[in-house]
Amino acid sequence: MEKVLEQPAETSVSEIQKIFDAQKDNYLQVGSTTASQRRAKLKKLHQTIEDYRPQIKEAMYQDYRKHPSEVDLTEVYPITSEIKHARRKLGNWMGKHSVSTPIALLGSSSHVRYEPKGMVLIISPWNFPFNLTFGPLVSAIAAGNSVIIKPSEMTPHSSALMVKLLAEVFDQNEVAVIEGGKDTSTELLALKFNHIFFTGSPNVGKIVMAAAAKHLTSVTLELGGKSPTIVDKTADLKMAARRVAWGKYLNNGQVCIAPDYVYVHESKKAEFVEEVNKAIANFYTETASDESSYSRIVNQKHFDRIKSYVDDAVDKGAKVESGGKFDSSQNYISPTVMTDVSNESKLMTNEIFGPIMPIFTFKDLDEAIDQINSREKPLALYIFSKSNKKINYILKNTRAGGGCINHTSVQFFNTNLPFGGSNNSGIGKGHGYAGFKSFSNARGILRQHIPNAVELLLPPYTKFTQKLIDLTIKWF
Ligand code: NAD
Repeated sequence: MEKVLEQPAETSVSEIQKIFDAQKDNYLQVGSTTASQRRAKLKKLHQTIEDYRPQIKEAMYQDYRKHPSEVDLTEVYPITSEIKHARRKLGNWMGKHSVSTPIALLGSSSHVRYEPKGMVLIISPWNFPFNLTFGPLVSAIAAGNSVIIKPSEMTPHSSALMVKLLAEVFDQNEVAVIEGGKDTSTELLALKFNHIFFTGSPNVGKIVMAAAAKHLTSVTLELGGKSPTIVDKTADLKMAARRVAWGKYLNNGQVCIAPDYVYVHESKKAEFVEEVNKAIANFYTETASDESSYSRIVNQKHFDRIKSYVDDAVDKGAKVESGGKFDSSQNYISPTVMTDVSNESKLMTNEIFGPIMPIFTFKDLDEAIDQINSREKPLALYIFSKSNKKINYILKNTRAGGGCINHTSVQFFNTNLPFGGSNNSGIGKGHGYAGFKSFSNARGILRQHIPNAVELLLPPYTKFTQKLIDLTIKWF
């Protein structure tokens, strides 16, 4: 695969400061916009994305041979549906949200209003460069913020296109893209933003949070990890295998919510492996290397990383059930299924982030649950079962950012669901209303209309006042 663009150069500190200062002069104006003004901005962004669809597909093909239909499905659609949702709901989100008044405060009314945080920074990863940059951007614009974006340096064609596309919609003092890698990111993190929305690995997430702490800047961290799948013995195996295989091999497994590993009831293992292999052949034919529906690994570094995980697992006794083909000339790894994988192998001590599916078995559901709970809380957990009792048991006894029952990954597409992890897999939520709230401060306002009982509780504290305080504590 020939790359036309190299990774973008780091942006100079003076250029970063210039853009930051321009936004500082403008963020209050951006924040005082009405719902209809913000809707107009989102509409323009939507139209520009539509206009640039062919270029987005081209950039993603250049970056890692992603199929144009998959670009539409996983890069364009999530953004356009996010924009439509925000435009529909914005009036309500920006309005006054009345809350009830306790009896002790009779004579007053209270409401919450969501005000923009101000100047925000969005740092995004390479695995869905447009989706994971423009998704939070939509929420940030809806909430009335000025935005600096730092896309990943690993997908240079996508990053360069974002600069061009967004310059057609926004002035730099409102939305600016600053290209570069770790150094640029570090310079940006030193600045006093009002909010940082970071999507990437847990390790870099910790760096972002530490930098944000210096300014007490709030953060949303959309991180990763190992998302498990449980297939119990009541599950429809053919359907489960097809949906797990789709979630695993989509984008070549480079998906934060991909089913990382699978626990299947031991009585169903052979059948499940067979059905997964059938699903792979069905999606990508027998030779995925010739198949345009199948993406590539983003670069040599990640190709080597995943290969080393597979080699290490095999050294520790794992069996390759299918796939296991590697071609470094095009960063190609075939859809691979493995069994007998040691929990101590690198494949299981790291997020895989590639097209390798380790399958484990359980006799008793608690064995699978205990294994899952011995790891960090995942971003997603998937359950395949026909038994509501089992489904509820698993949900009650595990923790995860989100997930699906009888599917994988599609929870991402419902803009009504908050999306994000928990602790190691993330802090805070994105998408729809949750995204809007992440970029807003919930300002709680009480308005006093007529004198109320609180007046009677003010100093000087007499015996009578104390009696009233006692009554208030007892009854209200
Ligand atoms: P990454 O953490 O390496 O990089 C993400 C961003 O951080 C990039 O823009 C990069 O330039 C910047 N960065 C890298 N090192 C930095 C440093 N030391 N200081 C400051 N900034 C730095 O992640 P990645 O490899 O681009 O993406 C893969 C990871 O992201 C996986 O762990 C995956 O699960 C996670 N992810 C999470 C979500 C989600 O929504 N929760 C979505 C996609 C990916």
